Amino acid sequence: MCNILRVRWTIVPRTAPQPWIACSGCGGLRAFQPSGKIRLNANGRQLDAWLIYRCTTCEKTWNRPIFERQNVRDIDPAVLDALQSNDPQWIRTETFNLEALKRKSQHVDEFSEFEIEKDILLETANWTMLELDLTVPFPVSTRLDRLLASELKVSRARLRRLHDGGTLRTSSDRADILRRRLKTGTRITIDLSAEADREQLWRALATGCPL
Ligand SMILES: [Zn+2]
Repeated sequence: MCNILRVRWTIVPRTAPQPWIACSGCGGLRAFQPSGKIRLNANGRQLDAWLIYRCTTCEKTWNRPIFERQNVRDIDPAVLDALQSNDPQWIRTETFNLEALKRKSQHVDEFSEFEIEKDILLETANWTMLELDLTVPFPVSTRLDRLLASELKVSRARLRRLHDGGTLRTSSDRADILRRRLKTGTRITIDLSAEADREQLWRALATGCPL
């Protein structure tokens, strides 16, 4: 099929997950947010590394272990390098490590606000099919139907009808894909051949380029 407008949507959550931890500063369970800093402690050949979090109420710190008493030789050199240079990208990725957070906290707050970048990958003349390729580098607590509804200004009920009728298809074979979290690699295809305003309104919303 060569009547396509293909756009990559890269969705990045605004706020890192916040674990709830018993705070030694103000007492009780509190949400902690990452400070963006690392603490390293060397003891002979052994190394400890922590990500520093702060209580959202009193700013008291909590050190989230990345590893403890690890022999320097056993540490991936790329990780060691990232830790020693306080690599912001590595730190950011680690703050979204939900599995590691859930091992330390029974309750982790996730946030659904995100930034979205839209890049046109392919645009043929007189296109009728809109293809959206999702890239989701960090876990984001947003459902697919909410993303499409807010970005394409379509109600979720209408999205459901389009999906049920086969006008909107996805690369997933899950029937409940619209209600699931965003996932990298998902492709959404919408047949807009019946929509007169596809080249104006739909294009503008899908690509982020003004009318
Ligand atoms: Zn506190």
